[in-house]
Amino acid sequence: MEIFSKHTKLNVIVTNDANAAAVGEMIYGGAKGMKNFVVITLGTGLGSGFVIDGKLVYGHDGFAGEIGHTTIRPGPVNRECGCGRKGCLETYVSATGLKRTLLKIMADSNQPSELRKLSFEELDSEIIHDAAKRGDFIAKLAFRHTGMMLGFKLADVVAHTNPEAIFLFGGLALAKDLIFEPTKEFMEENLLSIYKGKVKLLPSELSTQNAAVLGASSLVWSVKEL
Ligand SMILES: [Zn+2]
Repeated sequence: MEIFSKHTKLNVIVTNDANAAAVGEMIYGGAKGMKNFVVITLGTGLGSGFVIDGKLVYGHDGFAGEIGHTTIRPGPVNRECGCGRKGCLETYVSATGLKRTLLKIMADSNQPSELRKLSFEELDSEIIHDAAKRGDFIAKLAFRHTGMMLGFKLADVVAHTNPEAIFLFGGLALAKDLIFEPTKEFMEENLLSIYKGKVKLLPSELSTQNAAVLGASSLVWSVKEL
């Protein structure tokens, strides 16, 4: 959204990293030529940017599309989120969510895992990814559960905006099939029949380091007066 800065005496455009990544994807990445798509950023949290009819959606106050903080598991005993509520999507689908899921599976299962010796602080999504690639059952299951939760939610997203494609961006998206396969499977399973087989689930074509910066810089082109 465009605001006037009292400090610089200039109009500035403010957005979050997921919205900036969506614009970056549209101008420099895999969404070139697309008018309706969604970018999901998977970092320590989960962000999302929606483009509808070629325009980034801001909503009334500039906060449209915060699907990371929509509920996937309702109820008072579900995971606490940084936003103060419980059962938010990002408590399951994010680097932190993956860790929480991994520890839950380890607690509930007797299966051996090379990750059992690591603490919550020592674990990160890259370590879990590497273990999964080596065939670690618990690590693979943690990715599957994460993709399942994302797929469920994306089926709702498709019903809301009817996108041509959904792009996954960020650390967890680098896990490729480990995250894409269950996400696609559970999205398709839960889609209304009119959408089935029509929505592309794609990796972002922007590199992790510069997507948001590229997107943010390209926002100026979307303001006619400039
Ligand atoms: Zn939340």
